Formats: sequence, structure tokens, C-alpha cells
Amino acid sequence: MALIVQKYGGTSVANPERIRNVARRVARFRALGHQVVVVVSAMSGETNKLIALAKEIMPDPDPRELDVLVSTGEQVTIALLSLALMDLGVKAKSYTGAQVRILTDGAHTKARILQIDEDNIRRDLNAGHVVVVAGFQGVDEAGDITTLGRGGSDTTGVALAAALKADECQIYTDVDGVYTTDPRIESRARRLEKVSYEEMLEMASLGAKVLQTRSVELAMAKQVPVRVLSSFIEPDENGVLPAKSGTLICDEEEIVEKRIVSGVTMSRDEARITLLGLSDRVEAPADVFTRLAEANVNVDMIVQSQARTEGAVNLTFTTGRRDAPRAAELMRAAQAEIGFEEIRVDEDVAKVSVVGVGMRSHAGVAQTMFRALADKGVKFQAISTSEIKISVLIDAAYAELAVRALHSAYGLEAV
Ligand code: ADP
Ligand code: ASP
Ligand code: MG
Repeated sequence: MALIVQKYGGTSVANPERIRNVARRVARFRALGHQVVVVVSAMSGETNKLIALAKEIMPDPDPRELDVLVSTGEQVTIALLSLALMDLGVKAKSYTGAQVRILTDGAHTKARILQIDEDNIRRDLNAGHVVVVAGFQGVDEAGDITTLGRGGSDTTGVALAAALKADECQIYTDVDGVYTTDPRIESRARRLEKVSYEEMLEMASLGAKVLQTRSVELAMAKQVPVRVLSSFIEPDENGVLPAKSGTLICDEEEIVEKRIVSGVTMSRDEARITLLGLSDRVEAPADVFTRLAEANVNVDMIVQSQARTEGAVNLTFTTGRRDAPRAAELMRAAQAEIGFEEIRVDEDVAKVSVVGVGMRSHAGVAQTMFRALADKGVKFQAISTSEIKISVLIDAAYAELAVRALHSAYGLEAV
């Protein structure tokens, strides 16, 4: 008998029929004698709808109230799934984040989990219940509802698996695993049987939204085995999925097949800010980045080049799109103190990245990237690298073309 945490995403619970499908799947695991904790997202599209509603009332909604609102999406699906399980004769009980007591910090809309009370869940599991927990939400010390950032149900799943020391955390979604790139962009993308925590962490943070970045961080820190699976592929009567299905996120040592590049990712959540004619005072860049850091604006890529004006440089940096207006505002407010001529903000950019642990030991990865982009006439505006990734910032219009070109240049297609 195993203890399994299963997380079902929005498309897997999009309507009553799909919810019944999830219930049948869970019931099969129960029938095999496993203990099951299920985490569900809101029905697909619901969270977006709720956010849009809030914005109709208040363009920049108060974060506490926004959390009260958007957390209702998951409250609907936990109840519906519990009802569907009961209808199949399976004992089930739903829990909101606060009812479990998933304690988080008070950072509304992007809260972090601090602690999980497992007593209620354990008691119900031991009494033979399937426990159905609302993803994406928690409660802070003051008793206020918090949410964990978009895609946060993945993190609820992994955090519960870690707290309960579950044998596995299964993430059910609308694709049957982690692919070499988003299969919606490149139909020849190949499913990866195993991916290391480290590579998955880079891929998630660079745009592969199949797992929320924080969930991978947590899985890596707590050594939770995570399996990404499709809720649309039927298991056999023993609850076993076809052998060629799913992706296991695990330690690098467990992966036999050694690849140089594992995946190509793309993110449109980028904005480029350029300060033209920045004073070449040695402290000027520090003045810029200190102001951004103090305002909690995350800066990713940075490039400095010579300006036309004598004694000046151009400084370019990127931030997440949401932070860009605030970053630009901060710069404008301090224009005289920092000393620059003009600021430009461009949101028509995308970041395309190649990720792979093999880069540590292989030369030529960058050369392949720049050759492939050059062959397609794609110019890059900034570069950043880590030990296991190279990212380039390009014109958003070329993003998908670049992903496909790189996917092919590294020979990642299905054979
Ligand atoms: P859920 O609602 O189940 O949480 P998401 O929409 O958050 O599902 O994540 C699944 C989607 O992630 C897929 O439909 C796919 O388009 C996208 N995706 C992006 N990159 C990848 C990748 N490398 N492998 C698999 N899916 C990916
Ligand atoms: N419903 C939330 C969202 O859409 C959380 C999740 O689906 O993981 O972001
Ligand atoms: Mg998701």
C-alpha cells in the first residue's frame, strides 16, 4: 500500500464529465488499497474569469480581496470531486487550504507555504477517506486567505507530498509528460522519460508552464519524486498507465540517458528597459539596480554598450512584464539623480532558452544556438547564461520560429 498525492489541473476538471473521469481514476487507486490525497485546480478558465471580474470593479485589485475571490475557483472543484467520489461509493472529504491549515506567509497573490498541519488529513486517510484538497490556496497567521501564484496547485501537491512523506506526487495534466519543448509550439517535440530536478527547475522558470517553478524547487529540496502524467490516458484495470507514458522528475544520477540539451523553452513574460545616455559614472549602474532591488523588481538580463554621446553608455535590462511599468516609473522618478537622457520600454520581446546539464561538460552549445538563429535571420538583443542554460532575448514575433529552429538544431525531435 502506498500513499499517493495526485494533482489534477484545470483542464482535467473542466466540466462534470471530466470530474467524473478523475473520480473513476482515483477510485481505481483506492480499490488497489492505496491511500490517496487529491489536489485540484479550479475548472480551466475560472481563475482568469475571476481575475477579470475583479479588474472590472477595480483596475488594480486589492491583493487581499483578490485572494478571497480567486480561491473560490478551487472551492468549487473540491466539493464537486468529493461528490463524484461519493457517487461511486468512495468515502471522500474536501478541505480548503485553511481547513487543512496550509500556513503561508502574508504575501497575497504570491504567498509561500510555511507549514502544513497533517493531523486532519492523516486521520481521514486512516479512516479510509480520499482527502480532496483545494490547490493554490493557504491561510496566513492572521487567518486571511492567501494564494500561491498562478499555477500554484502544483506547489500545493508537492508540499502535501513532502509533508505526508508520500511515495509519489503525480501531476495530472493535459499532456502526457514533460516534452523537449511545448508540444503546442512544436508538434515533433519528444516526451522525456526522466528529467533532473535541476533541469526542470530551469525549464519551469524559463517558461515551461507544465510545472510551477516553486513546485520544482520544493520537490528538489524535499526529494519528492514527481511524475507528470496525462489525465486523458486511461490506466488498465490495475491502475497502471501504459509503460511509455509520463515523465519522472528525479535526481540527475537516476538518469541513464545522457543528453547535452534536454529542452527548449520560451517566455513572453519579459520586458526590455533601456536607459539611453546613462552617465558613465562608476556608481551609475549600482544606483539603477539598487533602486530596482529595493522595490523588489527582479532583473534578469543586463547588457551595457557604448552610447553615441561621449562619456555615456546605454544600459539595457529585462524584468518580468508585470514589473516593467513600476521599474520604468522608478527610473523616471530618479532620472536626474541617476543621470540618463532617455528611457525606452519594449514589451514586444520574448526569451528563448536551451537547457541541459550536459552543457557543463560539452563545448559548442552556444555556437549551435547562434548558428541556428542566424540561419533564420533572428537577431538577439541580450544573452544570459548559467551552467546549464543559455537564454537569448529576441523580437516576440520570432519566438516560435526560434523555438522550432533550436529544437531541430539540437536534434530533439521525436524519431
Ligand atoms: P494544468 O492546468 O494541468 O496545470 P498547464 O496548462 O498549467 O496545465 O500546463 C500544461 C501545459 O504546459 C501543456 O498543455 C503545454 O502546452 C505546456 N507546456 C509548456 N512547455 C511544456 C513542456 N516542455 N512539456 C510539456 N508541456 C509543456
Ligand atoms: N487555478 C490557479 C491558476 O489558474 C492555480 C492552478 O491552476 O494551479 O493559476
Ligand atoms: Mg498548471
